[in-house]
Parts: sequence; structure tokens; C-alpha cells
Amino acid sequence: MKKIQMTTPIVEMDGDEMTRVLWKMIKDELILPFVELKSEYYDLGLKHRDETNDEVTVQAALANKKYGVSVKCATITPNAQRMDEYNLHKMWKSPNGTIRAILDGTVFRTPIMIDPISPVVKNWKKPITIARHAFGDIYKATEIKVPGAGVAKLSFTDEKGETISKEIFTFEGAGVLQGQFNKEDSIYSFARSCFAYALDAKQDLWFGAKDTISKTYDHRFKDIFQEVYDNEYKEQFEKAGITYFYSLIDDIVARVIRSEGGFIWACKNYDGDVMSDMVSTAFGSLAMMTSVLVSPEGNYEYEAAHGTVTRHYYRYLEGEKTSTNPMATIFAWSGALRKRGEKDGLDELIHFADTLEKACLDTLNSGVMTKDLTRLAENIEVTEVNSEEFLRAIRSRLETLLES
Ligand code: NAD
Repeated sequence: MKKIQMTTPIVEMDGDEMTRVLWKMIKDELILPFVELKSEYYDLGLKHRDETNDEVTVQAALANKKYGVSVKCATITPNAQRMDEYNLHKMWKSPNGTIRAILDGTVFRTPIMIDPISPVVKNWKKPITIARHAFGDIYKATEIKVPGAGVAKLSFTDEKGETISKEIFTFEGAGVLQGQFNKEDSIYSFARSCFAYALDAKQDLWFGAKDTISKTYDHRFKDIFQEVYDNEYKEQFEKAGITYFYSLIDDIVARVIRSEGGFIWACKNYDGDVMSDMVSTAFGSLAMMTSVLVSPEGNYEYEAAHGTVTRHYYRYLEGEKTSTNPMATIFAWSGALRKRGEKDGLDELIHFADTLEKACLDTLNSGVMTKDLTRLAENIEVTEVNSEEFLRAIRSRLETLLES
């Protein structure tokens, strides 16, 4: 079979532990035999990040800016235990945080649905994509444990020394206090990424905040979304036959539960943190959640939503064949190859990405699956396989589909 050609490289970011093992297996079984892969490789494995003083993460993110599309393997975010385990020079920051800060993007997470696993919410028929604004609010808040009676104030001093000050509360005794913020340019970027993604996916966009209670803070989010929609996206949305819908967050949550899915749900930072776990659990498994970081300039970084599956890696090191689910990582590759194909006008590459995903879904729908899924599957005879067997089963289907 003639291999599919590429014109522009994909930025390839390798990672850690079990997902690093799967990364190589996926490339060897499902990509390299079919595609003349052009990639610019960055090793984001913790050892190499440490050796390069984490420069490699910055270089990889800049390469993503240059070429527009990257695919990333899960990576370890070091903590005290990892400092000892890897004998690190420093507790390096989360690579995802570093990349996100450089690309200034929004993360979109979508579940992969298969016939044998029904969502816990029985009327969900199509995936729900969560777009989380990953900047500010309580994640960058400043907090005080109020020791006793006193007055709390919110104050802002501009560059000229003018101050706006408001009383928050007069404490009669001990309590807690929190100050949070967000930036207009970040909210605009968030809104633009969401509208652009919805247009790309041809799906409605929903957004919810608490503007009735938070009349300045949340209201600003609502106004910015409306302004960006009216000025930049309304016409394109109407042409594409999709809608933008804003409501109070509590109303949105109720509607999401009653919906059949098939839309993008834009969430403020905390809502996105909580709701993405709710949505992924209700759809089935973390191993079946894909994730893509989209920048307002149209750069894409594809990855799995899960981590490096440490527990399986330690078993793998002892020589065991683990049943780790590679689906989200395969879909990160297919997502990146499809986007590369779309950007470069390579129909064969787009077709390959679609076919690879179909081969994966056909394999699962036939009952061949990894251990994390077998306990969730219903009304089907399942065959539990290890990762290698699973990838071989997908390859065999992929070969058949590509020949037909
Ligand atoms: P994890 O996602 O690796 O595992 C969480 C749970 O889900 C575990 O019980 C695991 O067995 C299961 N699981 C996850 N993916 C699976 C798969 N593909 N197949 C089968 N089971 C799967 O998260 P964790 O254990 O909290 O973290 C492990 C490491 O991953 C940490 O060092 C953390 O820093 C890193 N991490 C990286 C990312 C990323 O790069 N995007 C995200 C989260 C965690």
C-alpha cells in the first residue's frame, strides 16, 4: 500500500510512563505503516524536561504556534514524590500550563461514544463538549483567614494613583475572605475560541454564568460573549444553521441533563472543572475523553484528557502486559492528522483520520475492549484484551477498511 504523504509537519510531544509506552505502540501499529509521517519531535518526558531546564516545553509550544497543529502525550506534573523518584533539579511546572500560557487557548473535551456503553443520563444520544475557560477566578484568588471582628474592603488603584474602594463586609467575628479577578483579553480569547470551535464542529454553543447574582463580574462575561457573537460570528452561525444560547448557569445545567447532547458547553473556570468530571463520568470512562486546546489564532493541540496511568506503568515495568485503554491517545493522533489535512488540503490524510477512528469504534462495537470498558459494557459479549491485542485488532480492521 502506498503511504499517505504530508506537506507540513505535525508537532509531536512525547510524554511519560504508560502513555509513553502506548505512544510508541500507536505510532508503530497505526500511523507509520500508513502515513509518511512528517513530524517535529519534542521529548516532554520528565527526564528530558529536567535535562533542558524545561526549555523543551517552551520550544514545543512555540513550534505549535509556528506550524498550527500538535499532538501531545500525557506528561507527569512533578510533585514532592516525583522530585525524589526522578532526582529532579526543580519542581517543574505543569507542561500543559506552560503550553496553555504560550498558546492562550481554551480546552475542549469531548467523550468518545460507543454502542455497548450507554451514558448514565439515558437521553444523551450525542457527545457533549465542555469548553473550560482555564484562566483566573478562584484559581488565581487571594484569600485571607479573617481572625476576628473588622472591616473587609475591595480596593483598586490605577496607574495615576486613583482608587476605587468598596466595603465588602463588617465582620463581627472570625471568617474567611477571597478576592478573585479575570482579564478582559482572556475572556475575549475564550469567547472567540468557543465561537470558532462551534463553527468548526457545526454545533450549537451554550454558555451559562450567574449574572443575576454577580451583576458586574459574571455579567461582563455574558456581555463579552454577546458582543463577540453579534460583531464577529452571528452571520457565520446563521449561515451554518447553528445557534448561540446564553442562560443562567442553573438553567443551563437543567437543560443539559434533559438534552440529547450534540453541542458545545462553554463554562467559566470553576464550572468547567466540576462539570467536565461530571460529564466524563456520566458518559463512561476518563480513558474515552479527548481533549484539544484551541487558541484564538487557530492553533490546535490534541491530547487525551487522562494522565500517564502510573499504576499500569509500574505493573508494565514488572513485565506484566497491561490492559490500558489507548483510545483517547489514538483520537489525539487522528484529530491532529485530520486538522493537518484540513489546513493543508490533503483529502487522503483526512480520509485516513476518519478511517482510523472508524476502525477503533468498529473494534469496540464488536465487543473487543480493554478492561476499563468491559465492566461498563451492556448487551454484548465482550472479549477483554490487553493494549497490544487491542491495537492489533484495530490495525486489522484499519487495513481492511483502507483497502475497500
Ligand atoms: P490518570 O488519568 O493517569 O489516572 C486516573 C485513573 O484513571 C486511574 O485509576 C487510572 O488507572 C485510570 N485511567 C486513566 N486513563 C486510563 C486509561 N487510558 N486506561 C485505563 N485506565 C485509565 O491520573 P492520575 O493517576 O491522577 O495521574 C497520573 C500522572 O498523570 C500524574 O503524574 C499526573 O501529573 C499526570 N497527569 C497528566 C495529565 C496530562 O498530561 N494531561 C493529566 C492528568 C494527570
